[in-house]
Amino acid sequence: MAAADPALPFASEGEIEAAYLRSKELFATGETKPIAWRLKQLQKLRAMIVKHEATIESAIVADMHRADFEAQIFETRPCIAQIDDTISFITSGSLSRGVSVPLALGTASARVEMVPKGAVLIIGAWNYPAALTLGPLVDVLGAGNTAVIKPSELSPRSASVIGRLLEETFTDGEVLVLHGAVKETTQILKLRWDHIVYTGSSPVGRIVMSAAAKHLTPVTLELGGKCPVIVDATADMTVACRRIAQARFANAGQTCLAADYVLVERPVADAFIRTMKKTVREFYTDSPQSSPDFGRVVNQRHTRRIASLIEEARSLGGTVVVGGESDIEDCYIAPTVMTDVPLDTTLQREETFGPVLLVQPVDSVDEALERVNAGEKPLALYVFSSDSRTIAKVEKGTLSGSLAINDALMQRGIVSAPFGGVGESGMGSYSAGHGVREFSHHRTVFSNPTLLDIPLRYPPYSGFTKGL
Ligand code: NAD
Repeated sequence: MAAADPALPFASEGEIEAAYLRSKELFATGETKPIAWRLKQLQKLRAMIVKHEATIESAIVADMHRADFEAQIFETRPCIAQIDDTISFITSGSLSRGVSVPLALGTASARVEMVPKGAVLIIGAWNYPAALTLGPLVDVLGAGNTAVIKPSELSPRSASVIGRLLEETFTDGEVLVLHGAVKETTQILKLRWDHIVYTGSSPVGRIVMSAAAKHLTPVTLELGGKCPVIVDATADMTVACRRIAQARFANAGQTCLAADYVLVERPVADAFIRTMKKTVREFYTDSPQSSPDFGRVVNQRHTRRIASLIEEARSLGGTVVVGGESDIEDCYIAPTVMTDVPLDTTLQREETFGPVLLVQPVDSVDEALERVNAGEKPLALYVFSSDSRTIAKVEKGTLSGSLAINDALMQRGIVSAPFGGVGESGMGSYSAGHGVREFSHHRTVFSNPTLLDIPLRYPPYSGFTKGL
């Protein structure tokens, strides 16, 4: 891997408290509420990303050994697009809407205003270190809040670069960055934030939510899980395998929306595996370890974990049909495809978060749906088919954060669509207008002029006939 880890300056208790107070105090001045303030922050953020795009991408590449192109198309560019969409949303008059008032309220009027909540805490994950910190930040600022970001300590070069750039850009404390691991995050979570956005695993999501519950702080939880793929006998195999392979092996499989396991109709299962083998070779050559387009696992601990999951599945009857090799020193796990993996293995039960694709033949789309619905509601569900009946059946018969038809992963590129999970894969969503809604309080403003005051509404109610 590239450059040595920078030592992240983990925040002390005093620094945590100071950042919290500064963020709260700036919000309390009321300066952050006007649209002009929000636009200014978004423009500063946009200029920062555009100017330092290469630096941010290099840090991501150094942390994840990822292809530059993937750092750009999955991180910096979507953030820029999201800023543009957020600016359109907040300048389109969408922040305020009138609502109809019952006749009985006479000449009263009412509107709903999206107003900022206050100081918002953003806790990022390591796998997309820019997209998962700057992405929520766009909408938090668009909604007129101040922000404190705690990037993941596991992608330290990205955390360090993003922290420094934000500090240089937001000199009045509009956005503050606190570095740290579990101890510091636990401390940060003791404070009374006005909203918390957390991206990471479901177990830690529960910790975040219980900490937030102490203050009744609302949370947006962007969690993980297994994203299933259903492939029926009518699917275009070549395109399906390309899109599934990209969604599984990009960023060495460390993507929350990654295709985790494939339920393929039995008559085309062999064709699927044959085509997948060919696709992996076309993407990453016969030697993926030397391919500039294939990334690395974030650290040796996770590499060891994934290698041992493959071994466990193998020892219990699973067959490796592609890859299977690992090099712990190099944080390398080959792009791997396995079949016959028993359902009680860890690989089948838990999110792999590595470049391992499980393939399981099924007798019908109904059987695939039963399997999907027996698990937790996924962050994303993918279906590959040319049959509109299959597609409709999958759409009607399931619930997931998102559903992609004949593609995988690319739905995240639509910045005007909400990004979020459901059930175990998360709660709440963001991205442009959806995030501005999420990070705003929707305040009803009701106004009733005193000129016309109908006495019937006041006690004694004897003049009223009940039920009228
Ligand atoms: P991680 O280890 O980087 O943890 C995420 C954040 O939580 C970090 O900032 C970390 O410091 C903090 N944290 C970790 N343990 C903590 C604890 N005990 N108390 C308080 N804070 C703690 O990332 P991870 O959890 O390994 O991330 C991978 C998971 O994130 C996967 O499950 C993946 O699917 C999910 N994910 C979800 C999305 C999404 O948008 N839904 C995006 C990316 C990743």
